[in-house]
Amino acid sequence: MLFSEIPGQVDIKNQLIRSVKEDRISHAQLFLGPEGSGSLALALAYAQFICCDDRQENDSCGTCASCRKYTRLIHPDLHFSYPFIVKKTDGIEVSTDVIKEWREAVTDNPFLGLEDWLLSLDAENKQPNIPIRECHDIIRKLTLKSFESEYKVLIMWLPEFLGSEGNTLLKLIEEPPAKTLFILVAENQDQIINTILSRTQLIKVKKQEDREVAAYLLSHFETDESAAKRVAYLANGNISLARKILGAEEDDLEQFFVSWMRLCYARKGVEATEMMESFSKLGRENQKNLFKTGLQILRDSMVLNEQLDEIVRFESQQFDIRKFAGIIHYGNAVPIIRDLEQAIYHIERNANPRILFLDLSIRTMKNLQIKTVNSQLI
Ligand SMILES: [Zn+2]
Repeated sequence: MLFSEIPGQVDIKNQLIRSVKEDRISHAQLFLGPEGSGSLALALAYAQFICCDDRQENDSCGTCASCRKYTRLIHPDLHFSYPFIVKKTDGIEVSTDVIKEWREAVTDNPFLGLEDWLLSLDAENKQPNIPIRECHDIIRKLTLKSFESEYKVLIMWLPEFLGSEGNTLLKLIEEPPAKTLFILVAENQDQIINTILSRTQLIKVKKQEDREVAAYLLSHFETDESAAKRVAYLANGNISLARKILGAEEDDLEQFFVSWMRLCYARKGVEATEMMESFSKLGRENQKNLFKTGLQILRDSMVLNEQLDEIVRFESQQFDIRKFAGIIHYGNAVPIIRDLEQAIYHIERNANPRILFLDLSIRTMKNLQIKTVNSQLI
């Protein structure tokens, strides 16, 4: 991980880089920042910078042998510890037993939160833990001589999961072997045992600024500026959450539109109107995107009904469009499409969304009752 790959956090990056240049690397540090702030990414970039063979002015080179191994999280002097689910029957007793999953999860998203990590572990509802056996394994790892670098580094993610067994690490944290660096990456200071807290140097990482999150989304994903800004605002400084909202958006719109159409079809007017009202809070761009998604679904339903399957553009994991197409025919689709286009037109001209959506729900309920094709409409 390069510093340049992490949005924002300029002051902390400078502080860390300076400490390396001035040879003031503290051997036990606690990076404390909310989920999605980039604290783990900063710890990774910091460790990589320390071990880089061709350090640049303000970042690692990214290409030396050390950097290449750091990028893949496979450097033999880079150790990790993190909460995991002990499964003795599967031979999972220390964190290294799930290091493959860890490397994949962090490489995919270095801003990940606990929930993301547990998902990639298939944890179901089991409680993660950093057990005593893991603490002993950390001591074992760090008493080994370093293999390739001057420094050995252990990054412990979420030391909040260390109970009193963490006290077995105190001596190691206080008097580590030479050139050994202990970096703890935490979210909640008050959940870390005091004995450990008092032995570390605190580095406070602030949540990301909206503009940094938006810029990150724009440079990493296919999205436009207004969507990036909207998602950044909703994510409130959490890059991981922003990635999720952005990824979910399209699917959610499809799901939402189809659910609303089904309510209209079942003549559940109150529920359909309430559903639309809840959507009206999400801003004009989202409202417009919802109706555009709806137009696409209706077009494809009509295409499917004409057995022109090969020109169906729509693919959804969320619902079966063939089933949905069963309630759509020319007779009802044409007036609904016309209404959706009208709705987009009015949203662009700042119509009151609540009135607009109420009107649209009522009209769609009526339109869906149309049984036959009205030749005047086509
Ligand atoms: Zn390098």
